[in-house]
Amino acid sequence: MNEIKLLSSEIINEIAAGEVIERPVSVVKELVENSIDSLATKININIELGNSLKIQVLDNGLGIEKKYIEMAIKKHTTSKLIKKSLDNIGTLGFRGEALHAIANASEFKMISKNKNMNEAAEIVVLYGKLTRSRPSKGNLGTLIMVKNLFNKLPVRRKFLKSDKVESLAIKNFITKISLAYPNITFIFSQDNKEKLNLLGRQENNNIEARIKEIYGENFLKSSFYDEKKHPDFQIKIYASIPTYNKSNWQQTTIIINGRIIKDKLFLGVIKAAYAGLLAGNRFPVVALYINIKPTNLDINVHPAKTEVRILNRNLLNSSIIKIIRNNLEKIGLRYSVEAEKELIKKIKKHNELKFNKDLLDIGMNLFDVKNKEEDNKCLYEKENKFEDNQNQLGFAKAQINNMFIVAQTSDSLILVDQHAAHERIVLENLKKNYFNNKIVKQVLMMPEVINIEHGKTLLLKNKATISSLGFVFEDYGDKSIIVREIPAVLGNINILQLFQDLYEQIRKIGEVNPMDSSIEKILSSIACHNSIRAGKKLSLEEMNSILRLMESTPNSGQCNHGRPTFIELKLKDVESLFGRI
Ligand code: ADP
Ligand code: MG
Repeated sequence: MNEIKLLSSEIINEIAAGEVIERPVSVVKELVENSIDSLATKININIELGNSLKIQVLDNGLGIEKKYIEMAIKKHTTSKLIKKSLDNIGTLGFRGEALHAIANASEFKMISKNKNMNEAAEIVVLYGKLTRSRPSKGNLGTLIMVKNLFNKLPVRRKFLKSDKVESLAIKNFITKISLAYPNITFIFSQDNKEKLNLLGRQENNNIEARIKEIYGENFLKSSFYDEKKHPDFQIKIYASIPTYNKSNWQQTTIIINGRIIKDKLFLGVIKAAYAGLLAGNRFPVVALYINIKPTNLDINVHPAKTEVRILNRNLLNSSIIKIIRNNLEKIGLRYSVEAEKELIKKIKKHNELKFNKDLLDIGMNLFDVKNKEEDNKCLYEKENKFEDNQNQLGFAKAQINNMFIVAQTSDSLILVDQHAAHERIVLENLKKNYFNNKIVKQVLMMPEVINIEHGKTLLLKNKATISSLGFVFEDYGDKSIIVREIPAVLGNINILQLFQDLYEQIRKIGEVNPMDSSIEKILSSIACHNSIRAGKKLSLEEMNSILRLMESTPNSGQCNHGRPTFIELKLKDVESLFGRI
């Protein structure tokens, strides 16, 4: 090895800066967090990417006293560690690194004024060298302008993604931090074009208002809110119902003590809470607020403070799972309003096309409906008066294509996917009875011998588990097993196919452990084999009994993959499809 030497201070600074500010979004994050720590109620963020790479953050916070303004950009200088201890941190910043790192990596200007000053103070720092310090004009608060970021660090610049990606990252960050601080107004512009204008509110329900601003009304309608207090922590959560799902975690936001946390473990916990309700490649949208006693939290794990260590994490995890599960079970028959909107949109589009092609071409003016009054006495007003309002899913009227049940309530039309709905009913029944140890079995009139040569050993090895799921079977000859009883709820099914699937599932999972989600997976795969397949003709009685079972079954608004089991179209929406209202 060569001689060992201390690195030059420039290199040390570059290394340290690399940890804190990697990309433009890290600069925005540090500056916005400083503004929040300074108790600002309004923060304006302006960026211009491209060659000059400018970032500007203006706040109306407490400002910096003139005598400290030069000190603020020095290394390891902070006003935030009041008690001189890292185990009780109440501010977003505390490491005293950000301004130093940013001022080292850019052409940096800061103008600040606090309440004791008559005029603002300004400093200019060019790549770490203070070049100007003078009085200036400015309001109470702080303005920081960063230009030509990373110009002297060509490697860092080279690694930046496209302007579009960097700008999206900044927008995402502001969106997420705004969820944590609904009392603050955030205005974000790029190239002087406003991209976000989020109004801060001081009222008690300001979180809900912000959630609506960010996620939209549909999310609020398709989610639940709940909270839980524990001596060591407090949880507030907005979580989507399973039919409102996305292809990634992008929108899910986890906020711990006012800090946006990127922690895969939490995402795993949330996903576990939705086990059996969502397909593996679909994700819920969740805004999770956790407040923990600062002494139980170590945020000094990561330079950008996006990871944390928490004492008693297991208790916190199980509380999160419980809150989500309990609420989803209570929700029962809700489904995402997006599914309904999507359907209406599709029907409208389809109709428009049809009108154009079939009717408008031959010169009819469809919209010239003269006798509107008379028309409006619509069919269901005249014929189908519904007295009984008790059943949420109404009464079956017909079956389409042997796949869908059409039902009617007093004010809506319901379409049910019979197989998906029944699958959910069966799964919930199996789950409930499995965990209470009382799955009801049916003895097969004719025991079924199934030839399952290469799966046999594995199935016999897991006989105890499979028996606990409601199956009675034994070894039978060289290549077969004989099945004598199956769970009653399954009805008349193809047993060979079910055992083949069971074998596949167990093979994939390896060890079946009744204590984890593996049992849930197996139960789901069994439930898939319910007897009400798509394609089965049903009598009105059978249809109605499915509707009643859906009403009394938890989570029955979606199938095991998070798709809706039914769609409700309000009659007024149907009327609007026909241009009646
Ligand atoms: P930290 O936030 O960890 O303290 P920084 O380098 O980000 O370290 O900032 C250094 C100090 O500069 C802060 O402790 C604070 O006193 C002051 N400061 C930075 N930005 C602002 C601001 N926007 N408003 C008021 N004071 C600020
Ligand atoms: Mg800071």
